Amino acid sequence: MRKKIVAGNWKMNKSFDEAITLVNEIKELLGSSIGLQNDDCLVILSPPFPYISHIRKITKENDKIKIAAQNCHSEEKGAFTGEVSAPMIRSAGAEYVIIGHSERRTYFKETNEFLAKKTDAALKAGLIPIFCCGEILPDRKNENHFNVIKRQLKEGVFHLSENDFMKMLVAYEPVWAIGTGVTATPAQAQEMHAFIRKQIAGKYNRQIADNTTILYGGSCNSKNAKELFANPDVDGGLIGGASLIASEFATIVNSF
Ligand code: PEP
Repeated sequence: MRKKIVAGNWKMNKSFDEAITLVNEIKELLGSSIGLQNDDCLVILSPPFPYISHIRKITKENDKIKIAAQNCHSEEKGAFTGEVSAPMIRSAGAEYVIIGHSERRTYFKETNEFLAKKTDAALKAGLIPIFCCGEILPDRKNENHFNVIKRQLKEGVFHLSENDFMKMLVAYEPVWAIGTGVTATPAQAQEMHAFIRKQIAGKYNRQIADNTTILYGGSCNSKNAKELFANPDVDGGLIGGASLIASEFATIVNSF
């Protein structure tokens, strides 16, 4: 059975002290309730790099809370000033890494080809990639959204072996919904998640597709999470803005 996951992407927000307060509030609110209805339920927190190690230490006792980095470099080490490698992230205690977020694709011009290398580096280091895909608004309006997602998957992750792909999480994040307050309707989310699952089944097989967790991201909040998560192919969410407020985030986690 595939995992149900709510992952918070903090992006470039919170001072160190604010981040610790947020984690403690989330821990307090969730208590031991994570996975109460579902043993395969996980919470992932994605703080900025410098906080990973400490946040790992203070969440370690709860095995339902995992840590992700928001990015990694494709090389293991070397002269790449300012970059952070997958083995470094793993050694700091994170188990997951977000790859291909639309902000990385847009502001840092990350191509599918580069993201494929990052995915390889993450898996080699023992990290689980959360591979993001999503179309921009003109592609949705021109009904080109399925082609965009198909290509992002093909070029970003479909080079992986079955064994490696089985470790992956996928996040569908329509760019027009990220940070805009405009959410995909539950029907739009379900339609695309089912499409992604079909692509995975076509490339690998039905069993791998059925076991792949596919998260929805894009203005998901405490009010719309339940409706989104109720869809058969939506296995949870990748949450930006709403993950910065403990009560919002805890309500989303409890929306399964
Ligand atoms: C994100 O950045 O991954 C995201 C989904 O952001 P938001 O929830 O703020 O739209």
